[in-house]
Amino acid sequence: MKQTKKPTTTPTTKSAKKSKAKSIAKSGSDTAMKSSAGSSSGTILIKSGAIHTASDSFRADLLVEHGKIVQIAAKIDTNFCHNAKVINAAGLDVFPGGIDVHTHFELPFMGAVSPDDFSSGTVAAACGGTTTIVDFVIPSRGQRITEAAKMWHNKADGKCAVDYGFHIALVEFNDQVAKDIPKVIADGVTSFKCFLAYKNALMVDDAQLLEILYHARENGALVSVHAENGDMLTFLMKHLLESGNTAPRFHSEAHPAIAEAEATHRAIVLASMAAAPLYIVHMSCNEALEEVKIARSRGQMVLAETCPQYLLLDDELYNQPGFEGAKWVMSPPLRHFSNQDPLWEGLRDGFVQTVATDHCSFNYATQKKMGKEKFTLIPNGIPGVGDRMNLLYTYGVCRGRFSPNQFAAITATNPARIFGMYPQKGTIAVGSDADLVFYDPKKKGKITDKNTLHNVDYSAYNNFELDGLPVLVLSRGVVVSKDQKFTGDTAHGRFLKRQPFTPSDWGFPEFEGF
Ligand SMILES: [Zn+2]
Repeated sequence: MKQTKKPTTTPTTKSAKKSKAKSIAKSGSDTAMKSSAGSSSGTILIKSGAIHTASDSFRADLLVEHGKIVQIAAKIDTNFCHNAKVINAAGLDVFPGGIDVHTHFELPFMGAVSPDDFSSGTVAAACGGTTTIVDFVIPSRGQRITEAAKMWHNKADGKCAVDYGFHIALVEFNDQVAKDIPKVIADGVTSFKCFLAYKNALMVDDAQLLEILYHARENGALVSVHAENGDMLTFLMKHLLESGNTAPRFHSEAHPAIAEAEATHRAIVLASMAAAPLYIVHMSCNEALEEVKIARSRGQMVLAETCPQYLLLDDELYNQPGFEGAKWVMSPPLRHFSNQDPLWEGLRDGFVQTVATDHCSFNYATQKKMGKEKFTLIPNGIPGVGDRMNLLYTYGVCRGRFSPNQFAAITATNPARIFGMYPQKGTIAVGSDADLVFYDPKKKGKITDKNTLHNVDYSAYNNFELDGLPVLVLSRGVVVSKDQKFTGDTAHGRFLKRQPFTPSDWGFPEFEGF
């Protein structure tokens, strides 16, 4: 059931109980937090933070009990909070904990297994201000999706530092899949993903996608698509390799923007015919964004996600000497830098709702090098789950590309609303989980290959300067990281049973069946 409580301001009590409040933080920007690391959350009083939700910014105190926010007020008297631990958040920006709805942990892919598993991946997430992740269950063809979901539970349950959910990739459609769709939705997996790329592996054709869109809609689930035309990519890869073009930079030539625009357009048209909502994952280029804008302008329920790599990195990186460009081989690939401004503007203007990472890390020295002779054998993916919030805080909020409220919306509130986690997750409100990230705008840092939060041998964002750092992160009231050091427990994270997708949350009428 959905919670209905809205943020409220509760009058301050005048109770004169003797204060037993214990300070767990010194003054704001110095943030010498003295929390009991990883301890269970009792009562926590957070004083004087600059709180930012998707709609408001205000200075207030927050009271947390048993992992939930129970009071928000201009001033909450410490005398009232028997035995509360106190966090002094003066000088800090307080946001809803980040939600990354696109990760691949411990994924067997292209002959390798991504080395960030659910433990190291969620630890990196926690240290980087992300308190919820949604990972993709990817079944083999012929495997029941209920079985694949069990496999993912085996990988994740009891091993996550923060809360987690699953999407399921549908790599085929048949009667068994149709029967299993309502079963997995009942288990809290309310979104599916279809690949229009990776021909002969994960790709579905148009007939299958139509059936999936229809069956998902009938059961209240949202379908997302990896929008690249698999036939076009296969054709280009074949001809490039035949011409002896085997270096990493040819990965980019084999994945042109036109193939992404075509698949985006096609998925939108198919979703329109199926009267189903659609979510485009990892949109990388202006050509695809234009397709989304056209669909939105005619009133179609199309939502889009981009990733930090498409906002901040560009295809010049493929021209690095030697094999270095392999570090950024992913699909879609990095684009010409002229795509970056339209994507930032798309976020600002509401055509792009979320930024997720598509975190899928592979070690450069041992795994990326499997494609030394042929770019088509380089495992696709980059690390990023720990970097997303920091990059968007610096290059979004601090550089004036969007407001702190837009930052909250893009990194937490929108993903929570789209993927059935709101308002338990994604906002700072009475009744919501106390998932919070505290940014100190005065602290500076730099991402490097050496200090990466991820379990891999390089960073995709080496030498990126950061203005403002997450000095404290709470997950359900538990301090899971301090000054980007993990202080939590890798068994703390709980599986999130997500709610069905609700078009009316976005002002769209309920879809009518046919
Ligand atoms: Zn992905």
